Amino acid sequence: MTIDKPKASSLTLIMPTWTPGSYLIREFSKNIISISAKQKKIIQLEKIDKCSWRLNCNKNETLSISYTVYAFEKTVRTSFVDQHEAMLNGASIFIIPKTQMEEKIEVSISKPKQWKTISTSLKETGKTSFTAANFDELIDSPIQVGSQIIIDFEVNNVKHQYVVIGTGNLNKSQLVKDTTKILEKTYSLFNSFPYKSYKFFLHLENNMYGGLEHKNCSSLIYDPMGFKNKKDYQRFLGLVSHEFFHVYNVKRIRPKELGPFDYTKENYTQLLWIAEGLTSYFDDLILCKANILNAKEYLNRIAFSINTYENQPGAQVQTLADSSFDSWIKFYRPNENSINASISYYLKGSLVMLILDMMIIKKTKSSKSLENLLLVLWEAYKKNGNGINEKNFFSYLKKISDSNFELIEKYIHTTVSLDFDSVFKDFGIELVKAYKNKNEKNEGYIGILIDERSMKIKSVLNNTPAEESGLNVNDEIIAINSRRVDSKSYEKTIKLADKSKTLKFLVSRRSNLLSISVKTISKPFNHFYIRQIKSPTEEQKLFYKKWLGKDWSDA
Ligand SMILES: [Zn+2]
Repeated sequence: MTIDKPKASSLTLIMPTWTPGSYLIREFSKNIISISAKQKKIIQLEKIDKCSWRLNCNKNETLSISYTVYAFEKTVRTSFVDQHEAMLNGASIFIIPKTQMEEKIEVSISKPKQWKTISTSLKETGKTSFTAANFDELIDSPIQVGSQIIIDFEVNNVKHQYVVIGTGNLNKSQLVKDTTKILEKTYSLFNSFPYKSYKFFLHLENNMYGGLEHKNCSSLIYDPMGFKNKKDYQRFLGLVSHEFFHVYNVKRIRPKELGPFDYTKENYTQLLWIAEGLTSYFDDLILCKANILNAKEYLNRIAFSINTYENQPGAQVQTLADSSFDSWIKFYRPNENSINASISYYLKGSLVMLILDMMIIKKTKSSKSLENLLLVLWEAYKKNGNGINEKNFFSYLKKISDSNFELIEKYIHTTVSLDFDSVFKDFGIELVKAYKNKNEKNEGYIGILIDERSMKIKSVLNNTPAEESGLNVNDEIIAINSRRVDSKSYEKTIKLADKSKTLKFLVSRRSNLLSISVKTISKPFNHFYIRQIKSPTEEQKLFYKKWLGKDWSDA
């Protein structure tokens, strides 16, 4: 790094500890192997904390900082370099003087000759040189160097591109066709694309699934062979839809705590239910409205989310606002008890947004929906570029619907159970709770998750027979009712035990054998689905259509 004009004779250099969009302190400076500073002569660097260095220099002389970073973690939030590619994510490789973060930055890349292509959303100034308006833009613009497949396409006359790294069974024309549908639908919600061009970096890596949003691009990581199976492919398109929605929500409309950022520490917000919940609600809804999911598939997805929410004891413990605030130490750092103590702001956030959407449609007699709120948020953002707080959110909501939404506030700040039945009935649909197969009705249940290989307990769910009887995480299950069990016979034994049977577990806990009696209860419902009622009213059909953009008979 070369600093032409050091701003002061004493400078503090910092390296980010986290990357926006992923709320975990990752201590990127742990990968700095060596660092040195030089003007006409070597300058001493003093490390002042985990991510900062201080130095004294001559303001009138160019300052050079040389450093080596270890980059070998292939995720959308980190950097990775091998003989085939360099995947560079700014937060994990760049250092900056704290007082010069707003200045223009030039990036020049020297690469092996056989690496033909450089892809980035940074402004190109030469074949291997780029410029960022400031440090935020640099951090927000991944750089991919090495061989890659470029797929160009236009949507509404704006340039878009897939940058594919790796090979797999993806069908290029199908991918472009479906992505176009998603982008057109998203465009229709906001009436513009807020960029000159947009890139999807698509990294194909075995069994991986994830994404990270940026202002003018997104990074997706996904299984190379996951494009043929319909359900898998729909899940992938959900990722595309999710990350693309962030172009508007999070990268522009955002909680005021999320930009400008302090890269050196946690940036706390209670509003990830807007940042991620609202986005997670719209990612699938857009697939439905773009006819990538049919109504039945979409309703099944909602039912699946409700099932997950209702069967998670932590939903009764942690509020949505707290889940957001503590994402740094809880959501991103789960342990064996997370299922009992926390709830995802993606999951519950999207379900609360579903209820909100339905409430708006009902209260406005189908003249408005959550889409109208998006547009108001978007117009407000365009005026001043500022972030929002919770009060702003609810006042915009009032503006479009002329209503208050105390119930939604309650859903955000308390653990009161979400009431789906009341909203669903106005839309002519009902939630049905059942078993995957009929026989399960009589099967026993105790409330643990086990690791099948080691037969050790991974989680004990709160308020279940397992918890009440004293079974613990890490207990190794050896026998039940004096019979040795492995993963298969364990399943069978539990299944065959009717509800209200007492099972005598023999477990090994820290090398001691213990006998623990557990009384089974009946299995909770594990298959939720949503169906249309038989004889809907005209109003129910109208609300349904407003919500899904599909006729009642399309289901
Ligand atoms: Zn997201």
